[in-house]
Amino acid sequence: MKSAEIRQAFLTFFEKQGHTIVPTSSLVPGNDPTLLFTNAGMVPFKDVFLGRDPRPYVRATSAQRCVRAGGKHNDLDNVGYTARHHTFFEMLGNFSFGDYFKQDAIRFAWVFLTETLGLPKEKLWVTVHVSDDEAERIWKDEIGIDPERFSKLDEDNFWQMGDTGPCGPSSEIFFDHGPEVWGGPPGSPEEDGDRYIEIWNLVFMQFDRDAQGTLNPLPKPSIDTGMGLERVAAVMQGVHSNYEIDLFQSLLQAAAKATGHPDTATPSLRVIADHIRSCAFLIADGVLPSNEGRGYVLRRIIRRAIRHGHKLGAVEPFFHKLVDALDAEMGDAYPELREANDQITRVLLKEEEQFARTLDHGMGLLNAALAELDGKVLPGETVFKLYDTYGFPFDLTADVCRERGVTLDEEGFQQALEAQRERARAASQFGADYSASIELEGETAFTGYDRLEDQAKVT
Ligand code: ATP
Ligand code: MG
Ligand code: MG
Ligand code: MG
Repeated sequence: MKSAEIRQAFLTFFEKQGHTIVPTSSLVPGNDPTLLFTNAGMVPFKDVFLGRDPRPYVRATSAQRCVRAGGKHNDLDNVGYTARHHTFFEMLGNFSFGDYFKQDAIRFAWVFLTETLGLPKEKLWVTVHVSDDEAERIWKDEIGIDPERFSKLDEDNFWQMGDTGPCGPSSEIFFDHGPEVWGGPPGSPEEDGDRYIEIWNLVFMQFDRDAQGTLNPLPKPSIDTGMGLERVAAVMQGVHSNYEIDLFQSLLQAAAKATGHPDTATPSLRVIADHIRSCAFLIADGVLPSNEGRGYVLRRIIRRAIRHGHKLGAVEPFFHKLVDALDAEMGDAYPELREANDQITRVLLKEEEQFARTLDHGMGLLNAALAELDGKVLPGETVFKLYDTYGFPFDLTADVCRERGVTLDEEGFQQALEAQRERARAASQFGADYSASIELEGETAFTGYDRLEDQAKVT
């Protein structure tokens, strides 16, 4: 089954169960100025769960574009290292707003997976929250899940969009890719391997967490589920990595051509193929590279992609060349992407040209520093210099260090950053022209806080 067919099968299945198909929303959440990006299918429905946004339906289904590159759900550092994480992905979801609850949510998911998609039951593993005896009973007594493949876990089974907002205990469904893939079942020490892949999360929305951290009961218990399209596509297409599915083939080939590096299994090419999706969709949704807030997250992703191309030996701008391949692959499902094709290409090219001027020098400095490193920790001063002089976002330097088995002194970097701020503040009191360094202050956004006000703090 192709990705597009799985997406359609999902929406049709839930439409038949009385759900209204709701079109995908922007990556820039329209209803929540404090959230960085739409990071789950439920985000556009947040106020519906809270009872503040009445809709003409109580059941909905969608295929929502998501970005997880900052905040509570930040997968930027996972890309290139796991088979299952992207910065951009599509989340298939079904939602109940005070209508059905656990029993139907579990049954719908099980029927879709085992009947519509025809997945073998013995390949599916299930977890629920430690406190959730009701969900345990449904899985065991009504669905008949084998207790061997069932477990109760803690943090992983409590879902929240951000530090505040709707949340609740969850039930996760995993697919076993087989003994030829390394990894252990959920809850085991090897669960981070790629053998048991979480495909679907059913969230039993019961609470609204407020700014003090208190869990307030929602007006009506609701359902929010999310299934990663790329992960299910991998299962349906019999491959063990998301990067081997149909959707990624042409992107990887385009990346191979643009960088002149032919081996499409190279992690750097996967990073590039991943990053073109988040960057292009963010630009299509109106985000532009900048030194603060959402724009800075976009800039970080672009620069990370450029650095990986550089690592593969690309000397000319290459990243913008992938826009056409992406358009060919996803433009039918996302007309807004197609419409913005020219603009995305232009924005990326400009960003590439700008960063190319400092990337080489910065990499030279970094390589030299790594070569003469005594221990295993890169000093904060060096990280700061790369950031301040060469425009290396913190996580770009961290990415290079990780490849070389080196950690970096984050605290030292923060101190250097703070010292620079102090100097700028002091200087501005005397009217000196320090505008260049003041402008950079927004770049403190690197830590990837969820809340936009933290991202954009400029003092
Ligand atoms: P994981 O534990 O694998 O990081 P998660 O528990 O963080 O996943 P959820 O927040 O439950 O993920 O999101 C719902 C579903 O969306 C997941 O079950 C998965 O199929 C998919 N998904 C989550 N994060 C990603 C990602 N970074 N790339 C691709 N698919 C994802
Ligand atoms: Mg995750
Ligand atoms: Mg999980
Ligand atoms: Mg989950």
